[in-house]
Amino acid sequence: MEQVILIRFSEIHLKGKNKGYFLKLLYTNIKTALKEYKKVITPIQNRVVVSDYDVDDEDMIIREIKKVFGVYSVSVASVIPSTIEDITDFCAKLDISGSFKVDCNRADKTFPIKSNQMAADMGGVILDHCPNAYVDVRKPETVVHIDIRENGKTYIFDKIIYTYGGMPLGEYRDGLLLLSGGIDSPVAGFQMAKRGLRQDILHFDSYPYTSPQAREKVISLAKQIKNYIGCRYMYIVSMSKLQEEFHLHCKEEYAITLLRRAMIKVATILCERYNYKTIITGESLGQVASQTIESITVTNSMAGNYPILRPLISFNKDEIIKVAQEINTYETSILPYEDCCTVFLPQNPVIKPKIKIAEIEETHIPLSELIQKAIDEIIVIEL
Ligand code: ATP
Ligand code: MG
Repeated sequence: MEQVILIRFSEIHLKGKNKGYFLKLLYTNIKTALKEYKKVITPIQNRVVVSDYDVDDEDMIIREIKKVFGVYSVSVASVIPSTIEDITDFCAKLDISGSFKVDCNRADKTFPIKSNQMAADMGGVILDHCPNAYVDVRKPETVVHIDIRENGKTYIFDKIIYTYGGMPLGEYRDGLLLLSGGIDSPVAGFQMAKRGLRQDILHFDSYPYTSPQAREKVISLAKQIKNYIGCRYMYIVSMSKLQEEFHLHCKEEYAITLLRRAMIKVATILCERYNYKTIITGESLGQVASQTIESITVTNSMAGNYPILRPLISFNKDEIIKVAQEINTYETSILPYEDCCTVFLPQNPVIKPKIKIAEIEETHIPLSELIQKAIDEIIVIEL
């Protein structure tokens, strides 16, 4: 009996004329996710079928498919020809005890028996052959799903594994994710990827004030989220010189505000240079002093025409941690290495900064020159 993995899609059916484009994207993304495995991938109407794989790889293949956004659910299914005899034979051989129901989906409208009737008939066949089985349509222990597809094949399975849904990652790396070593930013990247935004990564460190281990930690975080966000490049820019200058010549309570403005400025310059269309951060309203509406306003004003997406703005910390654990970044994120934001930390960071004051402070140092110098020394890592 042929065993396959049946993949269903999420919102793509809503995309009207663009449906074909999204399906192609999804198909390509599934192929990429499974490139390491022996398998055959076949698109059929409203499903993708993975067949001819090593059974030993099945769990790993499902795990990889779960990372592909736009996939709604997967099932391991047996495949038989769509004839009443074949389906009846199959159901007669099932070994079911306890409560069950049959659920039939007749996608192939040429199949002669309607789905409700088919479910009732096959329920009868199972009852005839399984003395310990009984029907419970409300809370059955086993559901026998019979999916009669348009390709003349019927897929029968008992489990549906739900995945993240969302939209397939786009072809182009349109987003630039500001990744720190913290818990939030990897989750922010994940959340935007779920809506189809492919991203590369920008990290700021403050070497030698921050350690090589701190950098390694962020590189491993980048590798952990790579398959989700579809990134290729990670940029590392050192803020040490800028931070020294802020520390020496600017109001202490504005140190973080000025640093964050400089980060956004660097990000917009890289957006222009490499053609990213948006910047993503892990900010969450009210979490720390730099995440008040006033702080966000003052950093935003450095972004020019680039939108800054903050998918976690309404998340509570425990909600963020839950996702971090789910995508396996949490354990790395809590490793205790310093971040550039913790270097030259002011005693009392300003909670309601003003754009005017930030702009005046910036005139105390050669800001553009320092930013240009930091960018000239950029490190680019291919992940
Ligand atoms: P995280 O847990 O993501 O570090 P946080 O709660 O520590 O967030 P902040 O330090 O204020 O909050 O940072 C807010 C956002 O700014 C981060 O989520 C990230 O997107 C960006 N950011 C902060 N520090 C860095 C850094 N060193 N490199 C790149 N981006 C950073
Ligand atoms: Mg941080």
